[in-house]
Amino acid sequence: MAEGCIETEERRNLLAFPRRLFPLTAAVLACLLATACAHGPKPATSSFVVVLEGARVFDGETLGGPSTVVLEGDLIRAVGPRGSLTVPKGARVVDYTGKILLPGLIVAHAHVGHTSGTEMERSFYTRERIAQQLTRYQAYGVVAVNSLGMNPPLFYTLRRELNGHTAGADLYGAGPGIGAFRGTPPPQMRLADDQVARPQTAEEARAMVRDMAERGVDMVKLWVDGMGGKMPKLAPALYRAAIDEAHRNGVKAAAHIHDLEDAKALVEAGIDVIGHGVRDQRVDDAFIQAMKDREVWYIPTIQLDEANYIYAEHPSWMDEPFFRAAVDPELQHHFEDPTWQRETLASPEVAKARKAVSTNQENLLLLHRAGVKIGFGTDSGGMPQRIPGFAEHRELELMVQAGLTPAEALRAATSGSAELMGLKDRGRIAPGKVADLVVLDADPTQDIRNTRGIHALWRRGVEVR
Ligand SMILES: [Zn+2]
Repeated sequence: MAEGCIETEERRNLLAFPRRLFPLTAAVLACLLATACAHGPKPATSSFVVVLEGARVFDGETLGGPSTVVLEGDLIRAVGPRGSLTVPKGARVVDYTGKILLPGLIVAHAHVGHTSGTEMERSFYTRERIAQQLTRYQAYGVVAVNSLGMNPPLFYTLRRELNGHTAGADLYGAGPGIGAFRGTPPPQMRLADDQVARPQTAEEARAMVRDMAERGVDMVKLWVDGMGGKMPKLAPALYRAAIDEAHRNGVKAAAHIHDLEDAKALVEAGIDVIGHGVRDQRVDDAFIQAMKDREVWYIPTIQLDEANYIYAEHPSWMDEPFFRAAVDPELQHHFEDPTWQRETLASPEVAKARKAVSTNQENLLLLHRAGVKIGFGTDSGGMPQRIPGFAEHRELELMVQAGLTPAEALRAATSGSAELMGLKDRGRIAPGKVADLVVLDADPTQDIRNTRGIHALWRRGVEVR
């Protein structure tokens, strides 16, 4: 690539997303505008056409046979059985015989800008750090991240400026979210005052939600969790007001919960998304029915509790490059400390976390089998041990361990989460959708761990890895 110039496909993205022009240098701008740049735009539109030949396609629902997928610019133009489509003249053809194509993964519950190494601090919420995290997510096949709360005002700027490119996953989110006054999210999260709104009256809750909606949140987040009676909980009058105000402003409301009783009350109050699995007990028929009747989404986030002990057990996958590339060296060092491993595994909190994982998995299967809509989330980035990128692949495995088929878990992480987040142009491999594609070496519907064998990655029609 010539210095000061950019390759053709990227140019097209620049033209499609003009706001990205601002950070460009004068040289690049001149290059874009010049008629005779050495690496300039090619005249025929077919130069922007890419044909992916021979891969089997998981379209967001099921895995089909060998196919031809035509990309034009940043979109998928056509999908058909291999050999059924005419390859446009001048198109770049990529042979993916034997590979699998997935839509890019979408994580509907994660967090950005909280952690670095083994630490959590407000000071980590910077453009540079978040851009890095979004790059990491993308390298792991995640193309959209919903930062579900704890975002200071910088979120609104980053959401506008970092989206629509190919350098990292797109950022969506809930702005700060609504927490309990002197309650959850708790002090150990080390949050600044501008990272969570904590109303004391219903009117305050409404005003805070209106402010978030005006600034451009994708969802309103609520925390309803008394941490086992240790902390004050957001009062029903406050969350009812917040949910109602979110709906008046055309925004969905998602809730952090732990206990069945709170999940039930929130469904009754009109919540749209239960953002964590129910972990205190088995769900009952009344809850399952209410979730179905009201079409509430359910995001289990199983990895969240598992992350509290699994690294102390040192499973063999911790030595694999796929894990090691995701984990910060400082955190890796921490995980290798034998004293920490011993103390962690002996802790009563870990016994609780193990129980939470099995209850979560049992409930996921009950709700899924009953036909409740399942979304995909991990809470990655919320605490240091919830590792962005890796957590998503582990979550898929834990969902399959719970009893979902690999295709059902993948559906949650692609078309399901796209629908949950209202991303109509993502989550499927179909004409008109954004060309965000993960190319795998082996079939994940046979073994879900095959999502870890990422051969290539396409963002907006551009091969990025
Ligand atoms: Zn969270």
